Amino acid sequence: MRVIVINSGSSSIKYETFDLNGLSSASKGILERVGTPDSRLKHRWLSSSGTWKEIVETRPVADHREGFSFIFEVSSRAQSGSMETEVFAVGHRVVHGGEKFREPVIIDDTVLRTIEELIPLAPLHNPANVRGIKVMQDLLPRVRQVAVFDTAFHQTMPPMAFHYALPYDLYQSAGVRRYGFHGSSHQYVAKEASRYLGIPFDKLNLITLHLGNGASATAIEKGKSVDTSMGLTPLEGLIMGTRCGDLDPAVHFYLARKTGRSFEEIEDILNRESGLTGICGTNDMRDIQSRANGGDAQAALALEMFCYRVKKYIGAYYAALGSVDAIVFTGGIGENSAIVRNKSCEGLAGIGIIPDVRRNNAADNGVREIQAENSRVKILVIPTDEEREIAKQTIEVIEIENRKDSTIGDTMSSHKEHNDRK
Ligand code: ADP
Repeated sequence: MRVIVINSGSSSIKYETFDLNGLSSASKGILERVGTPDSRLKHRWLSSSGTWKEIVETRPVADHREGFSFIFEVSSRAQSGSMETEVFAVGHRVVHGGEKFREPVIIDDTVLRTIEELIPLAPLHNPANVRGIKVMQDLLPRVRQVAVFDTAFHQTMPPMAFHYALPYDLYQSAGVRRYGFHGSSHQYVAKEASRYLGIPFDKLNLITLHLGNGASATAIEKGKSVDTSMGLTPLEGLIMGTRCGDLDPAVHFYLARKTGRSFEEIEDILNRESGLTGICGTNDMRDIQSRANGGDAQAALALEMFCYRVKKYIGAYYAALGSVDAIVFTGGIGENSAIVRNKSCEGLAGIGIIPDVRRNNAADNGVREIQAENSRVKILVIPTDEEREIAKQTIEVIEIENRKDSTIGDTMSSHKEHNDRK
């Protein structure tokens, strides 16, 4: 039996399958450019000889339904046995769960309706997530589908952290508050840190830094998220590949008045043309580093700005937590860029955060410590695995439900026995 994890985006579908037994990855892939004549599927699978194999195919794919059929067809051709047989459950990444979902849930009509109602809060993401759920429900009608929300882990934030200082009515009438995202990633690396450090999760204080194309920081107190850098949408907080992060809200009005741009155009600038791209023309940290090394001033500025923003959040979350066991770097940049890790921790010796140059530069890709001997706070690098976290949570929800069913079953049969005896 296996669990399929689906991350259904507006123009792409990412997926991974895990064997229920031991949760090892069996296959994974990405279908890009959905809705175009040259949709490209890259499918990888673990062959019977234990090596990963890859197939790449391009064809017209009109919509998500055709996309999933394409994935199933290619996977069944590649593997002996198709992906859609022996499925224990499907776990869907859903970006926005609002205040309604604090935990993953098995999807029924009410859950699906609620995810649809949350579309105004995540117009770019939730519609594509819903599309993925509906197609999978049609393709695998007897398999349970679970929604795992990016926002759920952050639902433990206290009101002082999640409110904006706006008229309170806007929270009550329009749900304007901070929600936070990347929850599965922060939760996954936090649990890995707990295991690695041998400190129970509910006793652990961490600052987790997910630095990829999207980037966010989270303050975790005793295993619970108490603050995070993304807000109502994934635009707030750290500087990202193409998103600006924190900004004076007056910039929007000023830009509208000064340049005559519409709100949609400004939204587009802040989401797609800003961040690292806005400063130096690319969102690829590898290019930025090598350009900065070669003396490119714009690239050097982008790098400095990125790290300075991370450092400010480390300081803020240190203050929020009071004591910190470890800082965790993850995501494509956090896991791979020694320069970013070093610069983000520069000058923090006063609060006990001191990276070690040799450890930080060592080429390694597992869970590792990179702090100096005299660093009070541990600095960890932990590869994230959101898909595995979604698979784990999907299985847990279904097991809980199965236990409930069997308890109800037991209660009903003991009632029946009781009544039969009467
Ligand atoms: P996404 O948010 O799209 O999942 P990733 O977590 O894969 O993104 O992170 C992508 C970022 O990681 C890119 O900026 C990329 O340049 C950066 N990155 C990947 N490998 C390295 C590396 N070896 N050194 C520096 N940056 C890297």
